[in-house]
Order: sequence, then C-alpha cells, then structure tokens
Amino acid sequence: MSRVFNFSAGPSAFPESVLQQAQQEMLDWRGSGMSVMEMSHRGKHFSLIAEELESDLRELMAIPENYKVLFLQGGASAQFAFIPQNILNGKTKACYVNTGAWSEKAIKDAKAYCDVVVSASSEESKFTTIPDVADWALDSEAAYLHYTSNETIHGVEFQNVPDAKGLTLVSDMSSNILSRTVDVSQYGLIYAGTQKNMGPAGVTVVIVRDDLIGHADKKVPGVFSYAEQVKNGSMLNTPATYNWYLVGLVLKWLKARGGVAAMEQFNIAKAAKLYQAIDQSTLYRNPVEKAYRSRMNVPFILADENLDKAFIKDSEAAGLYELKGHRSVGGMRASIYNAMPDAGVDALIAFMAEFERSH
Ligand code: PMP
Repeated sequence: MSRVFNFSAGPSAFPESVLQQAQQEMLDWRGSGMSVMEMSHRGKHFSLIAEELESDLRELMAIPENYKVLFLQGGASAQFAFIPQNILNGKTKACYVNTGAWSEKAIKDAKAYCDVVVSASSEESKFTTIPDVADWALDSEAAYLHYTSNETIHGVEFQNVPDAKGLTLVSDMSSNILSRTVDVSQYGLIYAGTQKNMGPAGVTVVIVRDDLIGHADKKVPGVFSYAEQVKNGSMLNTPATYNWYLVGLVLKWLKARGGVAAMEQFNIAKAAKLYQAIDQSTLYRNPVEKAYRSRMNVPFILADENLDKAFIKDSEAAGLYELKGHRSVGGMRASIYNAMPDAGVDALIAFMAEFERSH
C-alpha cells in the first residue's frame, strides 16, 4: 500500500488513523455483530452513534443550548435554498456578501425566494480580497446577512466575525468549519458540508438558533424544513448512516488532538510556511491580499503557465496529488485541511523549491 499526500479541495484527505479504525470496525461494530452500514437508523447501536456525534460536535464548537444541530443531505448547496425557505419569516429581503464562487451560488439560489441585497462584492478584484466591513450596505429590513467564511476556490478567508449591525448572521463554513475557533453565539445559523474538515461527503451540518426554527412556509416539504427535521432528530428521511459514523470518528480524532483551538494553531503554522515558500519564490505567486489569505485553500499561479502541465505531472510522480487549481481560476491550489499533516506540506514545499530550481 502506498498512500499519497492528497491536496484535494473536497472530498479530501482523511486522518489515516480514522480510516484504519473504520476498517477494523467494518464487519463488526463494537461487538454488535454488524457493520454500521447494516444498522437500522432507529436501532440502539446507531442511536448511540448519533448521540455521540451530536454531543461531540457540541463540545468541540461549544454550541450553546439554544441552538439545534442538524445532520442533513443535499450538501451545502441545498442549504442555499433551504435557508431563505426557512428563515425569511415573512420578510422579503436578505443581505449577501459576494466574496467568490460559493457566495455567488448562494446568491443565485436565494433570488428565487427573496430580494437579494448584495451588501458588498469583491468581484472587481477577481475575488482576491474582502471588502471593508465598514463599507457594507446593510439593509435593516433584511431577514439575515449571509457570508461565506472561506471561499474554497479563491482561497479567501474571513479572519474575524463581521459586524452584522443587528442582522441575523448566517455563514457557509463548508471549507473552514472546525479549523479555527468560532463563537457560535454570534450567529443565527452556521452550515457546512462535511467533505473537507469533518469526514466524507454526504452530510451537511446545520447549527441553527431556536428562534429561527418553525417559520418556514407551509408549502416547504418536510425534509427541507428545519422544524420538521428537528422534530425528527434529522431522521425525517433515512439519514446517511455510515457517513454520520465516519464524521463521528473524525470528531473523536479531533478531540484527541486537542480540539479546535489546538487545530487552529496547527493550521496557522502549516499555512504560514506554505505562504512563506510562495512569497519567497520568483516562480509562484498567490494573488490574495495577505490579510485575507485562507489557511485552508492556498491557490498559487506559476509565472509561466506553460509549466503547469509539468508541475502537475512531476508533483504526482512525487506523491503529491490534486494540486490543479479550479478551472475558473487556473494555476494550482493546495487544500490543507485539518487532516493534512505537516509532512504533506513540507513535502509540497520541498517539491516546489526543487521544481523552481530545475525550471
Ligand atoms: N460552499 C462552499 C464554501 C464549498 O466549498 C462547497 C463545496 N466545495 C459548497 C458550498 C457546496 O457543497 P456541496 O457540494 O456539498 O453542496
């Protein structure tokens, strides 16, 4: 067996010890005589997995009691529509900040349900910065303010919670959840797909404050309704049971590593050395304004794009995979989520230096 360093933006690298544990428990989970895949979602074994999943996430993120935690399907993309469907609560407007490709998608889907006020946009800079919060045009009649805390494609990340000036704050944390500490109480709703920092694709975490639940239009189908899903413990439809289990194992791994605060220090150091290597080179360049550079997704452009193909080919030969940048941005992108070890980033930095020297 030879495993590579996988820099994919998602689905992405898993902690190896979690894969080994899943392998060990595959045929017989804790003496149950069955695989988690085979369990009834209403049975006693799976109920335990579900309870631990929620309590571990609550502990890791210090989620206050007046928030519900849901584990849904449809990806973060489904939430682009579920959010306005559930929390407009009779209002006709919502504010959105446009900082990249994922904000744009959220805005596009919200437009089917409300008037979207684009409070700020960094499109003019080709999404390489975050507009100054002081200049955001917030509408006090809006039901909420939505922003994407980390733009996975453009590599732009909020370093602080923006001041929503009294509006309910909603954030897509798909690509940086659990990578840094977050004060949940500042938000009305946080959502994230699990396929980056939390485990496999197929589960979407929604953390939503109690007062926002129960206001969906009567026409909203049950599986899309936060109130209905809360009432049914996220089991209104059959949940993605095996994926819940894997997310649960990743959360236990995270706890054993010291939790989110420890992970944040680790991520700061990992990202800093990669950006330093990029900034010191004459071949590589990161286009993002330094203050907003992502700790999770590090895009870089080669000075000569004719070298892109050779870079990909040689990096794969060196055991470094999925470094090709998103097609809309070009160049390269290294995604270095929680599960990317120091050794992976060190190997990438060494490879980049060697490639620069030989080209
Ligand atoms: N938001 C962000 C920030 C993302 O990175 C992604 C996926 N890359 C999504 C939303 C969409 O997630 P999904 O594919 O799970 O719907």
